[in-house]
Amino acid sequence: MEPNTIIHADNIDKIYGSGRNALRVLRGVSLSIARGEIVSIMGPSGAGKSTLLNVMGCLDGFQSGGLSILGRELSGFSVEDLSTFRNRHIGFVFQLHNLLPDFTALENVTMPLLIRRENRAAARKSALSVIERFGMLDRIGHRPGELSGGECQRIAVARAIVGRPDIILADEPTGSLDSTNSQVLMSTLFELGRENGTTIVVVTHDAGIASMTGRTITIVDGAIIGAQ
Ligand code: ADP
Repeated sequence: MEPNTIIHADNIDKIYGSGRNALRVLRGVSLSIARGEIVSIMGPSGAGKSTLLNVMGCLDGFQSGGLSILGRELSGFSVEDLSTFRNRHIGFVFQLHNLLPDFTALENVTMPLLIRRENRAAARKSALSVIERFGMLDRIGHRPGELSGGECQRIAVARAIVGRPDIILADEPTGSLDSTNSQVLMSTLFELGRENGTTIVVVTHDAGIASMTGRTITIVDGAIIGAQ
């Protein structure tokens, strides 16, 4: 493994169901992603993109193969240790924004820092500076229900990056946005990622977004196409 490898998957098989209903969704997937890389994952619907992202994010297990993140082999981790590891190192952005409905945009973005017991004033300052980068300063007092889908998604992305995780995994974060808005949102995320040295892996259908990343991994029928 290269010394700057941050995600290393080795021959991963993921099977849903069992017996006659068994569905082999990942078929011997191997890949390495270097620290600070910005990578897109593309492929047809049902190919296994979300499954692969969930496996890399320790949200989902797998049947065989190995996975190491930040140089740590995760197969021996307990569920509790995995969850601690995930909270410390990985930020997620999902297709549906998952913001907390009873909290304002600013509170949603500040939350990860407060959970980590950062000082309240410092957390607020970091949250405001990230929110500003996403052009949302005039909406900080709004709750998700008072924001458009695109605005919620900007806040969700701000929340994922505010804690400067080592890795951000994004699953079609702009699936519900038009192409121009998507590309603006993602270019801001990538810019912040480059500034912070964050590794970003994004599943997308949008060739425009894929072209902004350093590398595209294509997955078809549970297998990666081409050398990685
Ligand atoms: P993609 O993200 O490329 O559209 P997914 O990773 O979501 O693909 O799904 C890959 C395959 O696994 C699909 O055939 C899907 O129906 C199946 N699948 C996904 N999640 C589950 C699950 N929890 N149980 C059974 N099958 C699943």
